[in-house]
Amino acid sequence: MIDTGTELPGRETIGAGRGAAAEAFGVRLSKVDKVYARAGDVVQVLTGVDLDVGPGEFVALVGPSGAGKSTLLHIIAGLEPVTAGRVEVGGAVLSELNDDDRARLRLAAIGIVFQTFQLIESLTALENAVLPLLLTGVPRREAAAAGAELLDELGLTTRLGHAPEELSVGEKQRVCLARALISKPALLLADEPTASLDGPATDDAMRLLRRAARKRGNTVILATHDARAAAYADTTYTLRGGSLRR
Ligand code: ADP
Ligand code: MG
Repeated sequence: MIDTGTELPGRETIGAGRGAAAEAFGVRLSKVDKVYARAGDVVQVLTGVDLDVGPGEFVALVGPSGAGKSTLLHIIAGLEPVTAGRVEVGGAVLSELNDDDRARLRLAAIGIVFQTFQLIESLTALENAVLPLLLTGVPRREAAAAGAELLDELGLTTRLGHAPEELSVGEKQRVCLARALISKPALLLADEPTASLDGPATDDAMRLLRRAARKRGNTVILATHDARAAAYADTTYTLRGGSLRR
């Protein structure tokens, strides 16, 4: 069981799924370099990347496949260290936190939507959606009520008991969005969330994502190679050749 009781630097309280949404996070990257080195092979993915995302802002990171979008999201999530530069998330400097604090920050305050869904096949839609609440010790009944309400908001009222394999791709994507939002995260990171969807389903998913984020005041950082999805953001940045441009 992961303990979320410890306070993090720069934050008074971090909601673990109960009560009001945590205050939206700002994200600030300064002069970030990222180099992957393995077996004598060196890949410089990011060079001098600066990014300033205000609390509640919805930002899209676009760029071709291999440009470093996922790397940038993983860095912001504290899943990948930078080679140089500074990353501030919700007032905390990630390099000043230890692994446990970064894990706590993620669990309590960051929701992540993965391109590949990562749903657990043996659990229902509702059980998948509320997993983050159960991990932070919210009682099952309370978690189920919150999950049913959120899935209802996302148009999945009649799919609560379905296994992932009994859901369409668009429905699975919405369950992933619910799982990312259920803890009322201050920051939502979405990595190619519409990659498996067709045009109309992309519009549906992005409308839901934007509406859900606005309602909760989440900051959103979306990585996508799809201009159609990026159009829903307030601000778009392009990642190319390791540099980020507005
Ligand atoms: P995008 O999400 O924009 O498609 P990625 O961030 O996944 O791009 O990858 C950017 C570059 O970094 C690619 O050239 C990829 O091969 C490389 N890369 C990503 N992860 C690793 C890793 N763990 N080790 C080595 N190289 C990696
Ligand atoms: Mg990627």
